Amino acid sequence: MARVLGSFIAAVCLSVQAVSASPAHWSYRGDQGPDHWGELGDKLCSTGQMQSPVNIDWREVTSRSVDSDALRVDYQVLPMEVLNNGHSIQAKPMGETGLSYMGRHYRLMQFHFHTPSEHQFDQREYPMEMHLVHQADDGGLLVLGVMIEQGEANDELADLWDVLPEEEGGEARLGLLMAPQLQRLLPATGHHLFYDGSLTTPPCTEGVKWVLYEQPIQLSASQIQRFRELFPDNHRPARALDGREVDED
Ligand SMILES: [Zn+2]
Repeated sequence: MARVLGSFIAAVCLSVQAVSASPAHWSYRGDQGPDHWGELGDKLCSTGQMQSPVNIDWREVTSRSVDSDALRVDYQVLPMEVLNNGHSIQAKPMGETGLSYMGRHYRLMQFHFHTPSEHQFDQREYPMEMHLVHQADDGGLLVLGVMIEQGEANDELADLWDVLPEEEGGEARLGLLMAPQLQRLLPATGHHLFYDGSLTTPPCTEGVKWVLYEQPIQLSASQIQRFRELFPDNHRPARALDGREVDED
């Protein structure tokens, strides 16, 4: 009996260990940096042929190939949960909002920031980039990318910047009055670029619809600096386009 109980306990301990085993750690530097993500367990990061981010070569963009009505962004203002996940600052709306693309609805899951930008335009990067990650009911992913240039202080992000959690795992909450009005945060005008890519962090999942605003938004030098104090460099370098088409509306 004792033996049976002993092996039962051993089995339980094993399964608890399996569940709590943390995923392979990854980072943006050295042995755990982007060049090693494939070896660290997420093979697609090194073998994938439709990876993100990419460099946008303006001469290669297929002009006006997407209907200008294809994308309809209609974000509601919602309170947010803010998390320092060790790779970026991530804000999650507490409630449902989203966009539609080609007649399909996508819910906003979270948004986060990179510095410098992950996407490049004619090999040039911006100081930062914001990613708004969406998911459709069938699991399909769409990421809206907004480039950030240095300029005026961004009032919409001021309250979020005041509570950026400094430690990994740190959390904060933004009530309705302090949460950014995402609809106002987005570039007022401008066109979009469209291509098929991947998540830019492990597991580098492909089949992600990317929509990039052509026009950047602005953050002040001190707002950019504040983010870089927490994350000096959290970008994945551009990946080969490998014959993929980039469209424009
Ligand atoms: Zn991102």
